[in-house]
Amino acid sequence: MGERHRKLHGIMICVPYQGHLNPFVDLALKLASSGIVITFVHLEFLHRKLCQTHHANKTDVDLFSKARELGLDIRFTTMADTFPLEFDRDANFKEYWEAMVRDFPPLVDEFVGNILASDRDMLHFLVADTVHNWAAAVARKYNLVSVSLWTQSALVYCLGYHLDLLEQNGHFPCKDEVEEEIKYVPGVESINTKYIMPYLKQSECESVISRASRLLFEQGKMADFVLQNTVEELEPQTLSALNRYLPNYAVGPLNFSQNISTNTVTTSLWSKSDCTTWLGSKPPGSVLYVSFGSFVHTNKQVLEELAYGLLLSKVDFVWVIRQGILGDGATASVLPAGFQDAVKERGLIVGWCDQVETLSNPAIGGFLTHSGWNSTLESMWCGVPMICYPIGFDQPCNSKLVVADWKIGIHLCEGGSLDRENVAHKIQSFMNGGDLERLKQNAERVRKIMKNAVEPDGYSRTNFDRFLKDLEAKIH
Ligand code: UDP
Repeated sequence: MGERHRKLHGIMICVPYQGHLNPFVDLALKLASSGIVITFVHLEFLHRKLCQTHHANKTDVDLFSKARELGLDIRFTTMADTFPLEFDRDANFKEYWEAMVRDFPPLVDEFVGNILASDRDMLHFLVADTVHNWAAAVARKYNLVSVSLWTQSALVYCLGYHLDLLEQNGHFPCKDEVEEEIKYVPGVESINTKYIMPYLKQSECESVISRASRLLFEQGKMADFVLQNTVEELEPQTLSALNRYLPNYAVGPLNFSQNISTNTVTTSLWSKSDCTTWLGSKPPGSVLYVSFGSFVHTNKQVLEELAYGLLLSKVDFVWVIRQGILGDGATASVLPAGFQDAVKERGLIVGWCDQVETLSNPAIGGFLTHSGWNSTLESMWCGVPMICYPIGFDQPCNSKLVVADWKIGIHLCEGGSLDRENVAHKIQSFMNGGDLERLKQNAERVRKIMKNAVEPDGYSRTNFDRFLKDLEAKIH
């Protein structure tokens, strides 16, 4: 069979966090459903965690065995990162990323090289999360087409793409205390410096995340194609401005929009508690869902103000407090003593849940979120308005989109300190106040945009098909 008729084969190497893993796995399934062969590479420690969480036996060790039963050609393998399996990467986040930035690129280079040593023509393209700062260089070395998956908003990508412009205008590094409107970035009408990513600010610009981010945005520019986990109708100007520099394809929302993901692959890194029974006893729209995602850490004082704020608000709530949220590896309860007795049947506290299932429950009326991008998309998918409490990374930017651009949420304590009376007041007026109707109407409008995008003739499906055609043309 000639080269032209060989099936395309891509290698995918994921980033070891829930918010990156979910869309990445979904993309693997979408590519394989289109007849492409995929070699999916998991990091060993993450795969072990997954197996432990789900008490997996040997047959479950291959993440994609069920997908293969459905006829998809996804080959599964693992590779080591830079630390022993038992090293606590969550509690030692900085040390871990210092090593990942420095030592992981040569490991990947060797890994891909070894695969190709057995069959020079086996692979055609490499898909890496944009967070990987080595991706385009490795692809280039082995003559593979480089596909970059950006799992955050196009707005964040666009700001990162134009770091040189921000630097020329004195906004990179950006002074921490100064608030100014940035109006010169192509595709971004206006954004206040208080919303730009904290790793671009003076106080954080020497951190490993800031250094890693600079590297990844530079590498990202060398990719052949960029897939964006967003919806064209939601960020049209930003995406069209980015297209002037690189082919971008908005193919979101990835992860929860197709049943194939949830039915075939379990990606959850923690075991889930059921919330549906408890929610079943609550009136429609009456419960606030509270979660800060899989990754960020906070401190005891913040959790205490939130806890008392929830108590004083008298609003019913489900609160996800994942193990390790304080970032110190501690497993003891992080809530004030007696809190759970005080809220009694008004509050359900769980370590982890099925977030999309919870947000889809009719009892949920709002989401108090850290504004992680997946959480934001999931809330929008379910038509649930948000109270935004961004903690770091891309989250302030996302909260700007939610509050100012799409008008489907409010800020919890913008700029101000987090105190319990203010939290209680915000939650109360959000769940019961006059603004709620307007927020709900806007959330419903956004929900429809997202659902339409994944219909057969919708924006995201059309963009994905266009990407496949362009990928094929580039390879052959
Ligand atoms: N999530 C979940 N159960 C929970 C809390 C979070 O499944 O109890 C998932 C959520 O659905 C989302 C991901 O964890 O897909 C978090 O990603 P996000 O980008 O919102 O935040 P990050 O964890 O990257 O900060």
